[in-house]
Amino acid sequence: MADVGEPCVVCTEPLTETSGADCMRCGRPYHLNRRNDIPGKDCGTAWINDDIMSLEFACEVCLLLPEEEEEPEFSLDDVLDLDEGAAYAGWSAEQLQRAADAGQVAHRKTGGGIYLFRRGDLPRGV
Ligand SMILES: [Zn+2]
Ligand SMILES: [Zn+2]
Repeated sequence: MADVGEPCVVCTEPLTETSGADCMRCGRPYHLNRRNDIPGKDCGTAWINDDIMSLEFACEVCLLLPEEEEEPEFSLDDVLDLDEGAAYAGWSAEQLQRAADAGQVAHRKTGGGIYLFRRGDLPRGV
């Protein structure tokens, strides 16, 4: 638990005996009024997590941060060359090359002049 006198990560004022909690996201102490009968500061919140049936704590700083988005898993299978990309898009290789040169399709051109595409960037042919 947070120690009395430690500065709150949100407002930097020292914690008091009845207001202190450790944020479970950043691990820093913040004000959380633990008594209903006396007024106190709340620089964050606490709630019951139904999944694990336990109390969770988070300071206001972390609450305002957007949840980190997980990077979609990237695999080399999703990197296609011109022929593969064209087949995927249902286009001819020339068509895809022209679209890439025109900046219509995101691609990378290697030093050797090979076009590389990411599957997700390709138009899906009908
Ligand atoms: Zn505070
Ligand atoms: Zn925090």
